[in-house]
Amino acid sequence: MSLTSFASLGLSTPLVHACAEAGYAAPTAIQVEAIPRLLRGQDLLGLAPTGSGKTAAFALPLLQRIIAGRQHAYRRVRVLVLVPTRELAAQVGQTFRRFGTSCPLPLKVAVLYGGVSVNPQMMALRGGADVVVATPGRLLDLLQRNAVRLDTVEALVLDEADRLLDLGFSAERERVLAALPTNRQNLLFSATFPAEVQALADGLLRDAVRIEAAAEARTEPAIVQRVIAADAPRRTELLRHLVKQEGWRSVLVFVATRYATEHVARKLYDRGIRAAPLHGDMSQLQRTTVLEDFKNGRWDVLVTTDLAARGIDIPGLQVVVNYDLPRSADDYVHRIGRTGRAGASGLAVSFTSAATEAHFGLIEKRNKLMLPRERVAGFEPVQVAAPPPEAAARTGGVKGKRPSKKDKLRAAAASAAHRGTK
Ligand code: AMP
Repeated sequence: MSLTSFASLGLSTPLVHACAEAGYAAPTAIQVEAIPRLLRGQDLLGLAPTGSGKTAAFALPLLQRIIAGRQHAYRRVRVLVLVPTRELAAQVGQTFRRFGTSCPLPLKVAVLYGGVSVNPQMMALRGGADVVVATPGRLLDLLQRNAVRLDTVEALVLDEADRLLDLGFSAERERVLAALPTNRQNLLFSATFPAEVQALADGLLRDAVRIEAAAEARTEPAIVQRVIAADAPRRTELLRHLVKQEGWRSVLVFVATRYATEHVARKLYDRGIRAAPLHGDMSQLQRTTVLEDFKNGRWDVLVTTDLAARGIDIPGLQVVVNYDLPRSADDYVHRIGRTGRAGASGLAVSFTSAATEAHFGLIEKRNKLMLPRERVAGFEPVQVAAPPPEAAARTGGVKGKRPSKKDKLRAAAASAAHRGTK
């Protein structure tokens, strides 16, 4: 029975009930692996993709330890979770709050992130907090203002460590770590595992258990992956056609730039699709509102960039569209993992064009995928791929246009693909 499964991991009855109330029928793979070990106080290295249930995998056992160790109302920060983005901070904070209601003494969770006024966060920290969820920059700011003390932290969680490092966390790391006591439990979660994350783990973790949930996600049968070949200038029209034709609701569209989020959303909206942009230049209030409205079904399509969408959890998200392709194979996994979460089925659609086909080929190769190319009636591509660079050089190339770094990468991919077909 489902309740027994969570209980058999060693969680206390109130937390087991809270899981049932949250609609969790049974623990996910990473929860089964992580919860008993974290309850024993072990360090943990989790290779956990989005949608694996990793937030609850660390929040539940850490909360149980807080509950067990708290006999009076005096508050000190016992759990610190560092995350790369504001959205993820809000989400992780929510998970702690949701399960925190089962604590006998009210639990205080402070969520700290930049881009909004610091004063309300300073006020929220008055009287202490049990759990702090923060982005590193704002946390350092508040430490400098003596608004928060971290010398009582018992457990440190680095969530989406790969993204933290991408955003320059290495520079801030030493200053955050210096504020923590040396004797503590350390947890590191990452969806991908580049060498920098390994180095971070080596420096931080002691006798850590390593849990890998990634293999499951990469072969996640719940996500149907489709690739549609079309000419780049017709992508917005194609997207509109698909949304209407296939009756898509709850669609997250990835584009390359902030400008494109506005532009594509506007064009869809003007053609009768309930679409809105989400990007980093919007105020925090605008971002929160648009995301809530999307979750509540007011918008059918949200057009965003990788950075703005990082870590966002949208329950029931049906479709992810790669309007512009992700830069790396890992980003592809990360993006499509936004749908098909926690066992729900999902669809990921990538648009390829003559210019991006070779790049997508590399993404497929890295992820060991071979997806058929679809053509949609009325949107069949007519543009052909540019010749590989040697041929372009022979014909003199494009006058007056120096190739950018991205152009060179694309050209290298195109020529590799070209060689492969010889
Ligand atoms: P995460 O990987 O932490 O971002 O979680 C992804 C989604 O799965 C969230 O919406 C969670 O509420 C949900 N979730 C986590 N654990 C479970 C579970 N055991 N059963 C069902 N849903 C879950």
